[in-house]
Parts: sequence; structure tokens; C-alpha cells
Amino acid sequence: MSFKTAISVFLAYFLLFLGQAWALDVNAVRIGGHAEKERLVVELSGKSQFRAFVLQSPDRIIVDMDDFSWKVGQLSRPSVTLVKDVRFGSLGGGKGRLVIETSTPVIIKSAFAIDKANGQPNRIVVDFAKTSAAMMKEATTQQMGDMNGAAQPKNARMVAPQKDPEPQEKFSPAKAKKLIIIDPGHGGQDPGALGVNGAYEKSIVLAVGLELKKQLEKSGYRVEMTRSTDVFIPLGERVRFARKKGGDLFISLHADSISRSNVTGASVYTLSDKASDKETAKLAERENKSDLIAGIDLSHQETDVADILIDLAARDTMNQSRYLAKTVITTLDSNNVKVLDTKYRSAGFAVLKAMDIPSILVEMGYLTNREEVERLSNSAYRVRIASALKASIDKFFQKK
Ligand SMILES: [Zn+2]
Repeated sequence: MSFKTAISVFLAYFLLFLGQAWALDVNAVRIGGHAEKERLVVELSGKSQFRAFVLQSPDRIIVDMDDFSWKVGQLSRPSVTLVKDVRFGSLGGGKGRLVIETSTPVIIKSAFAIDKANGQPNRIVVDFAKTSAAMMKEATTQQMGDMNGAAQPKNARMVAPQKDPEPQEKFSPAKAKKLIIIDPGHGGQDPGALGVNGAYEKSIVLAVGLELKKQLEKSGYRVEMTRSTDVFIPLGERVRFARKKGGDLFISLHADSISRSNVTGASVYTLSDKASDKETAKLAERENKSDLIAGIDLSHQETDVADILIDLAARDTMNQSRYLAKTVITTLDSNNVKVLDTKYRSAGFAVLKAMDIPSILVEMGYLTNREEVERLSNSAYRVRIASALKASIDKFFQKK
């Protein structure tokens, strides 16, 4: 190779390197939506890996991608938005960062990349919504996207957003009223746990469910019940029902039994692939037996929980379910409903598998304890439990 050729090859590689290092342009950033949910669309000149997550103090959404040149003339955003400021900077190591500061705590509902098609450029889309500070804190450990590992940003610059027409991506209008799915456990040929006074779990949970429905509807919620009479509904059917109706929350109501008759108190559970403890694993086993009792063929089992949880959107739902579970526990406690344990627990409950709906299972108490089963058979106590559940739902949706 002659000296001249060597120089040319070197130059060619050098230019190629430069070209790669600065290959990506951010050509537009659009923000749109309404009070319920907003959408951030980042238009790119090419494909890029990305990751999106939230941080607090100040509240902000972070979108990391390949290092980019900022070619955005002006930010496109509606007159009313949760977005306060948009900043960007280089992270070094070939990575760039967008920082979207928000005026309230927010949670990322979904984040995805769209390849260029139909005259539209490559895009990164982040859907986010207002939430509570507590829920945002829960979400700070979650990341969406296909990029991993990056440092803190340096020399981020400020860009003042300007008013502009709505972006093209539109949202369906917000549902006027939140839809709560109440799922009274068992029913029909499956009585559930048997109380020492002869009461059935299926009857107690239906009574509480109907009371909760009444209270929720009174304060402006929509309610659908998986059953409102003494009928058997398979577990998978309850999940499908909730999804078909488009529920915003799913609450499964139960009352447990245990060999030690001195154990009392309510407990709250969420879905997980690994049970939080042995007792919860056994409880999930008991509750999942409902289908067996009715003689349903379980050879076509639903997807394993671990597989479901790979889905990032599902992880967001899990955060919300955990937040709801914690809220229910503290609210029951402060409403003089005895709780067994101040921690919520989790296991593979088949009825909690609606992965796009925050879902919890509430065991209202132990029917194997005489005092507790008598309390639960008393309508005044059931009203108290229902009020506490309603108050938790209010808190979840930040009604107060
Ligand atoms: Zn049960």
C-alpha cells in the first residue's frame, strides 16, 4: 500500500467515523394530548436505540438515545400541557439526552420507537400522564426502551418551548368516568372458604361487592361486576371480562381460611411471578383452585406470569397495582378494619392477569375465626370495608 493510498484509507475511515458519530438529527419535538394523557413525539433522521424513564426533583422525563444534533426550530406543543421545559445535551460515549421537565409528577404509560414509513420519519414516542409523587417515585426504578447504561448529562442547554398547533398523533378522548371492575370471588358450585358459623366466602364477598358498587356509583364512578348473583365464573373469564370492558381498576374480593383459628385481619395482594412468601404462594394456590372445583380443563393454561411481566407496559401496570395495594392497606387500617400485615404481598394469582389494568386481590379477613366471620356477616362492618375500599380508589385517582 502506497503512502497516498494509506492516507486515503485513513481519511475514508475518519470521515466514516465522523459520519457515524453525528449521524442522528433530532428534527422535531412535538407534544400533544389533553389533561388525561400526553404524548411526546421525537422525530429523528434515522434509527436510534433509546431508553425512557422518570426522575424527581425536579419532576422530569428522560429520553436517552444516540448522540444527536438539535435541528428543532421550535417546539410544537399545545397551549395547555404538563411540559414546562425541554432541555437536551450530550452524555458522552455517543449518547445524547432529552430532558422533559414537567409541572407535576408524571408516569410513563408507554414508550416505543416507530421506523420510518409512509413518508413519516423515524420517531420515538413517549406517552405519559399525571400521577402522584408517590407513584412517580415507584416508577423511577423502571426503564423503557432498548438502550442500557449511560452517564449523567453534562452541559444541557435550555430551550424555551413555544406554542404551536397540536401534533398529528391524536388521542381518543378521556373516558368521562373511571370504570371500576369489582370481582366477587367464587360463586355457584364454588363456595370458596367456609366460615365457622356456616357462612360462605362467596356470599360474603358478593355482599361487600354490591355495597362497594353502590358507594362507587354514588360518587360518580362507573362499575361493572364480574358477577352480581350466585353464579360460577371461571378465573380467565373474569380477566377477559375486565379487559373487554376497558376497566381502569380491577378489585377481586375474597375472604380466607386458615388452620390457626386465632388469625384475623385483612390482607392485600398483587400479581408476581415469584411469590413474596410461602403463605402467599399457598393462598394463590387455594384461590387458583376455583376452576378445578368447577371441573374446568386446565391443560390450556394461560401464559406464565413471568412471560407476561417481560412486557414493559405490564411493569407499569404492576407499579400501579402495588401503589393501589399499599393505599388499600393504609386506608383499611385508618378506617378501623383490622389488617393482618402492613405489607402487601404478591404471588401468581390467576385472576390478576389483566396486565393493562391495575389489579389487586383483597382478602377481607379469616372465616376460620369466629369473631371475624361474624363481623364480616354484619352489614355495618361490610359498609365500613366498602367505604375504606372506595376511599382507596379515590386516593388512587387523586380525587382528594
Ligand atoms: Zn377466595
